[in-house]
Amino acid sequence: MKELYIDFDGVIMNTIEVSYRMMEEQGKNPKDSEDAKVFFSTLNWNQFLKQCQPINDSIDCIGKIIDSNKFSVSILTHINGLEEAVEKVKYIRKHFKDLTVIPVPKQISKTEMVHTEGAILIDDYAGNLREWNAAGGIGVRFSEKRNGKGFPVVDYLDQIIEMFENICQ
Ligand SMILES: [Mg+2]
Repeated sequence: MKELYIDFDGVIMNTIEVSYRMMEEQGKNPKDSEDAKVFFSTLNWNQFLKQCQPINDSIDCIGKIIDSNKFSVSILTHINGLEEAVEKVKYIRKHFKDLTVIPVPKQISKTEMVHTEGAILIDDYAGNLREWNAAGGIGVRFSEKRNGKGFPVVDYLDQIIEMFENICQ
């Protein structure tokens, strides 16, 4: 089985879209890292996740990926704080009893947390994918607009099952 890591924010859930909207409503600039830091340090993640939605049937798609028996699936997600990790794990656990969730402190690269060589990462952030490929992994971009930014692209997570035939001989 191929190691497959799936990002959470902007891939499984529309947390980025919702947080940007909330920050703008509070007069904060979502692109400003200090504004974002303050916003996330005071965010109630339990309430916040209830306002977010899965993207493009992500939960069903992950079920299909697991059922394909081709991948060993884990969720690999950057976190700003421990409460965020707790609530993300709780959310995933509501849908999957036995799916590994790996929270990565925002300050370090996803490549520092897991074995990357030959493993696939599906992520919406091209910066993470560049680091992943540089560390010997296989980066796949998640984009609802199917903009790969130089990486193979999926807009529904279960497309990785067919793509796997092509990119991992
Ligand atoms: Mg993301």
